[in-house]
Amino acid sequence: MKTQLVEDEILDMMKLENQFGVFNNNMMMLLSDEDKAYVEEIQSLCIEQEEKIGRIRGHNNDDYYDWFEWAGKHGLINRSNEYPHRSDLRIGMKAELLRCWTMDIFNPQFNMAMGASSLCINPIAHHHQNKENLVKDLQDLFDGKKIGCIGITEPKQGSDAVNMKVKAEKADGGYVVNGIKCYTTNSPKADMCAVYAVLNEEDPRSTMVQGISHKDWDRGFKSERIGIPSVTKVHIGKTTFEDAFIPEEYMTGGPGEGYHILFEGLVPERIGIAATNVGQMWGAFSLASLYSTVRQQFKSKILLHQAIGMSVLAKYHSRLTSITMALLKLAEAYDAKRDELEGISPFMNPFVAMASQMKEQAAYLVHDLTYECMHVMGGTGVTDQTKMPIIQGVSEIAEVVGGTRNVQLLIGSRTINTMVKMI
Ligand SMILES: Cc1cc2nc3c(=O)[nH]c(=O)nc-3n(C[C@H](O)[C@H](O)[C@H](O)COP(=O)(O)OP(=O)(O)OC[C@H]3O[C@@H](n4cnc5c(N)ncnc54)[C@H](O)[C@@H]3O)c2cc1C
Repeated sequence: MKTQLVEDEILDMMKLENQFGVFNNNMMMLLSDEDKAYVEEIQSLCIEQEEKIGRIRGHNNDDYYDWFEWAGKHGLINRSNEYPHRSDLRIGMKAELLRCWTMDIFNPQFNMAMGASSLCINPIAHHHQNKENLVKDLQDLFDGKKIGCIGITEPKQGSDAVNMKVKAEKADGGYVVNGIKCYTTNSPKADMCAVYAVLNEEDPRSTMVQGISHKDWDRGFKSERIGIPSVTKVHIGKTTFEDAFIPEEYMTGGPGEGYHILFEGLVPERIGIAATNVGQMWGAFSLASLYSTVRQQFKSKILLHQAIGMSVLAKYHSRLTSITMALLKLAEAYDAKRDELEGISPFMNPFVAMASQMKEQAAYLVHDLTYECMHVMGGTGVTDQTKMPIIQGVSEIAEVVGGTRNVQLLIGSRTINTMVKMI
């Protein structure tokens, strides 16, 4: 922070321990003892790190990519996939959700960067086919020793990602990739990119491949940072593949398999984005509710002015509690059905629609709720004395990452048709 304006007592009230306290009290009836212990363990690690980096000053000054190794050491980058080299960690969609919520309260832009690395983890975890190099990449990504990114979007292919133009050609011992991907989160900092490309742009579905390109290879990918003012700490890039060679042992999917992997990946990606939005909302809501109990105006706590306590905080509290419960239910159902869904075509997966529905709702609500909670805090809300502006930044891009609302609603409208046909 540049200059502290609020009294020490008020700043202390909004410390991370108290934000976690607000969250934990709200989760009291929703989580089992095992869940609570798991959350508290991650919270303790975050509180320790908060002290080490120098509290809010560290959040404003540090390069978040320097925190990856700390997070990796404690298994905080991803909890939805099995680690090939560790068996001490709780894994599953619910474990990932709770990890996400805790990490988002700690720092949502850092969690966004870890989330993008997880998008590189997901396809390797499911499609490494025991190839030694890919298993090593997977371990390095989990451990935070390497940073990953995913290359789907192209300058001319956004929502219509399937009709991609980045070209793959079969070569001796692998594939040569040419073309440009854009908005690739982490790519300026990333060591590897899970990239999709097509052999024939007229027939992307049966010719799409996916492989892992490394930046430090002679023929790896290149990246230039693009400016996204909402998330100043996350490096997002234009990613160029110029005769980039991906050896066979780094390919996760051959012709046509890439298309299946693309759709398979969208379910955990969208549930993950919805989860992250809910975590961001708990971050914003906890700050605003703590502040509203200590800030006084007109001789009264601002919480007791009805326009703050009822019209904003209570109203958004009920919305946040509802979406939190919905997401918990979705994660529990996902974990329960995991084995049943193993091997099912990604196009027949019933979670596709639910993931889109949650993403569409959460992305809108996080923007709305964060704006309102920020302004509950008046001037303090927009200064760098709390993490509110960091949360507000990520809330602005929630709509577009992982596909805009119209794409989610397109999936929704097709689902209605399928459901009627199934009668
Ligand atoms: C901060 C950030 C991080 C990102 N990270 C990544 C990443 O790591 N990897 C990656 O591959 N991509 C990433 N993306 C890209 C993101 O997924 C795309 O921006 C998104 O899918 C939208 O594509 P577009 O920007 O080209 O918009 P467009 O597709 O051009 O859409 C423009 C508008 O048209 C609407 N529209 C489009 N098609 C339809 C339709 N059929 N019906 C109705 N309306 C429609 C959209 O809803 C939108 O409002 C990121 C983007 C941002 C901003």
